[in-house]
Amino acid sequence: MKKIIIAIDGHSSCGKSTMAKQLAKEIGYVYVDTGAMYRAVTLYALRNGLFPDEGIKEAELKAAIDAGKIQISFRFNPETGRPDTYLNGEKVEEEIRQMAVSSHVSPIAALPFVRTLLTEQQQAMGREKGIVMDGRDIGTAVFPQAEMKVFVTASAEVRAGRRYKELMGNAKTEEEKAALDFQEILKNVKERDYIDSHREVAPLRQAEDALVLDNSDMTREEQSAWLLAKYKEIVS
Ligand code: C5P
Repeated sequence: MKKIIIAIDGHSSCGKSTMAKQLAKEIGYVYVDTGAMYRAVTLYALRNGLFPDEGIKEAELKAAIDAGKIQISFRFNPETGRPDTYLNGEKVEEEIRQMAVSSHVSPIAALPFVRTLLTEQQQAMGREKGIVMDGRDIGTAVFPQAEMKVFVTASAEVRAGRRYKELMGNAKTEEEKAALDFQEILKNVKERDYIDSHREVAPLRQAEDALVLDNSDMTREEQSAWLLAKYKEIVS
């Protein structure tokens, strides 16, 4: 069967990565979570004091990128059945999902030099096709020629509720659980939607030829079945 590129874009926390991962597993494709790459750059910036009160230290971040000091990679984890994200050889999969990173990632992702770097890396990963990639600009900027494009969305409340549940599930202590605040998560989801859709370079928008999926009222199983059926239609 011919190999294609599958681009899955959409708003924050709408379950794109769960769907994308599941589809990749079912059809034997490589899965790439591009949000994890933007999160890893953000973690580097946070750890290196590049977020002072007045904004981002862009020149320092660019110098670090140019000097090759931010190396992002993925390694398949057989225990979870999904790739883990590594920053300079260190596994950062859990840390990049925390609120500190979520609340700083969109301004980092709006920087043109960050997008250039990560877009090039993503395009290299898809050279052989046979890839499912999720993000915000995959069908519009990274692979505008992708054979299958999906744009996923759901109401902000539904998405924040899902993120809250996921973070609760990941919390290791009672303190971590108590620190989670639904309203804060909802605010973050809305803020990221706004910044992601209004930035100058590769803003989040639906590609004209994308299939649209509003999954507000769908179960995971229903979404997976929908996606697999669309894939089969396209490759048949
Ligand atoms: O998908 P996830 O929520 O982990 O992405 C984190 C952030 O990374 C997004 O809110 C967005 O600002 C940025 N991003 C992006 N382009 C992508 C993927 C993610 O700008 N292709």
